[in-house]
Amino acid sequence: MRVVRVQSPSPDDVFKKWLESKDSQTLSRLFSASGVVISRSDISAADNVKSVERHLMGVIRVKTIPTHAMKLKEKVVNYKQLERVTFYAKETSEDVPILKTLKLQVCDKCNGGGEITCKTCGGEGYITCERCGGAGQVTCERCGGTGKIKIEVKYVLPDKKAKKEINIPCPECHGKKKVRCPECHGLGRVVCPDCGGRGGEVCDKCLGAKALFQYQIGPILEERVSPLIVYHDEIPPHLRNKMVNRLGDIGCIEVKSSRELGEKELVKYFGLATKEIKETIRKLARVESMIKKSKEKKIVGPIILFPILKLYIETPKNIGFEIWAIGTKDKYIILEK
Ligand SMILES: [Zn+2]
Ligand SMILES: [Zn+2]
Ligand SMILES: [Zn+2]
Ligand SMILES: [Zn+2]
Repeated sequence: MRVVRVQSPSPDDVFKKWLESKDSQTLSRLFSASGVVISRSDISAADNVKSVERHLMGVIRVKTIPTHAMKLKEKVVNYKQLERVTFYAKETSEDVPILKTLKLQVCDKCNGGGEITCKTCGGEGYITCERCGGAGQVTCERCGGTGKIKIEVKYVLPDKKAKKEINIPCPECHGKKKVRCPECHGLGRVVCPDCGGRGGEVCDKCLGAKALFQYQIGPILEERVSPLIVYHDEIPPHLRNKMVNRLGDIGCIEVKSSRELGEKELVKYFGLATKEIKETIRKLARVESMIKKSKEKKIVGPIILFPILKLYIETPKNIGFEIWAIGTKDKYIILEK
């Protein structure tokens, strides 16, 4: 596409060029009411062109920024959460979990041990018995730690009854002054109340699997440049396709941004700043700002504009048809509807 900063072709030129492309038989069929063969010079734009509409087609070349050049959101999950994730390995502009980025990492909570050691027992599962301080024995309560108890022996005297105390070895501790600790049954330690003897808890971050899984979320895109074409709705779809297929054959106008297209520039480029042209420029500006805001797309090169002229022809035989011209004054093509 060549840069030509000129106006769009004039309706007269377009009509003339169209006339030249037709044979006299076709022209007679369209224009000669009497059936007499008519000469090209007898057919004027002034008599037959009933209306002229001016349009434009805008082309923005858009580069898709590839995934590897983007800053993506990171996520770390455990194996159970991982099983609920659906990863993507195909192109998409949606934010998705990217399969290629999935990797294993050592759990930072348990340092890859799978469990967290109980702080209370240090992983032993037992703690020292508080009651006996680990000795396994406690002072005998019955004898108060003396090993002996007093018992009374009753007897009868001639005039009265009497009793006397004697010491015997404590029947509870058998005189040893201490008894087995009722709390730990002599072991000196008890099951850790915090871990129930397990010595630790399964790591709640990795759920015991020792590993966590890291991946990235974002769109999956390859780098590519493709044209985005902006038209006015009134341009029929079949003509749009024909125009797009022949972009190489026609002249265009290049601008840095649709912001450069004020009333003055529109007149300079298109001859007239028509409602249709202004509407297309607004559409172009919206598309342009949308791409500029997008994280995964970028505009490359200038914005390319193609002037379009639509002539509505009505012949003396009341045959109506449209002639469309696309391109700049010195390089345009004619399409018929
Ligand atoms: Zn862990
Ligand atoms: Zn414990
Ligand atoms: Zn004890
Ligand atoms: Zn005792």
